[in-house]
Amino acid sequence: MSGVLDLVRADLRDFAGYRSARTERVQGDVWLNANESARANAGDAEGAYRRYPDPQPEPLRERLAALYGVRAARVLAGRGSDEGIDLLVRALCVPGHGAIVITPPTFGMYAVCARLHGARVVEAPLVERGEGFQCDFTAVARKAEAENARLVFLCSPGNPTGASLPLESIAALACRLERQSVVVVDEAYQEFASTPSALTLLDRHPNLVVLRTLSKAHALAGVRLGVAIGNEALIEVLRRCQAPYPLPAPCIDAVMRATDAAVLEATRGGVAATIAERTRLAVALADAPGVRRVYPSDANFLLVRFDDADAAFATLLAAGVVVRDMRAQAALGDALRITVGTAAQNDRVLSALTGVAA
Ligand SMILES: *Cc1c(COP(=O)(O)O)cnc(C)c1O
Repeated sequence: MSGVLDLVRADLRDFAGYRSARTERVQGDVWLNANESARANAGDAEGAYRRYPDPQPEPLRERLAALYGVRAARVLAGRGSDEGIDLLVRALCVPGHGAIVITPPTFGMYAVCARLHGARVVEAPLVERGEGFQCDFTAVARKAEAENARLVFLCSPGNPTGASLPLESIAALACRLERQSVVVVDEAYQEFASTPSALTLLDRHPNLVVLRTLSKAHALAGVRLGVAIGNEALIEVLRRCQAPYPLPAPCIDAVMRATDAAVLEATRGGVAATIAERTRLAVALADAPGVRRVYPSDANFLLVRFDDADAAFATLLAAGVVVRDMRAQAALGDALRITVGTAAQNDRVLSALTGVAA
């Protein structure tokens, strides 16, 4: 045992997980080993869904590997990147003892998964400088070392800040924490960013894991498909911790359709349109009355500070526009997070807010 596997919970290093009927590699043409129904459901005429699905179908893994430009063995598909977060916490943190480091304000699921697992949540807050929110990488490293944290969750582009993290800082952190922590880079919004992905660092840093999802840029939040991408041995450990049949067959079908070349081309067009609308909305919002600050964004949303965020939230709601209230997050007491919509939806936001001053 060496390298990144030393970071896995000692009691799970040789854990085989559940051996489902699908994991046994045997040949045959009469399959009577999984207690599936002999007859199709009357509403499923083709019998497409009669059998348990392959836990990680090879065609799906190949598609996702091609999409992200990595080897298939580096890819674990799961029920959204939320499942990746949960698997990482469970595989790396000893229940009731382990710790994770997060950089608030950040995505809420890291702390939720840690809490459900009895792991401590150590905070190394983002710092606000002239250009926006930045990660204090030195503080992150010190906290990980001082608290013996097995996991560091970075979010790039950040939710809710919209700011990307510099790759060289991520690489330096992964280096420094090589014997201490797995550094996770959650890239849920990477498609909307102009900066390169941390996927390019994987070859050099076995303790780096990148999370990607089809929920945002690919418009498939309802399908629940996300991936963890990292060192092959670590990915294999996560797979053994996963549920026996984690990917529903209709979802596998939807992902295969969505990763077809022509569909991907259309997806890229949609992303470009969202980026153009993001720029238009940001410029217009910066001029709107009552808006204190619009942060630069590499994602499909804008973080906006208001003179009176309560009034802005209420005004938008009265106009039928629901945005995310960030006021409960420390350092964001006057902020709202607004997802970039269609041009018509963004116009609704703008006309409602222009009315605030009227
Ligand atoms: C939306 C979001 C996710 C969730 O992705 P799923 O694949 O839908 O689970 C993960 N991380 C961040 C930062 C997000 O904003």
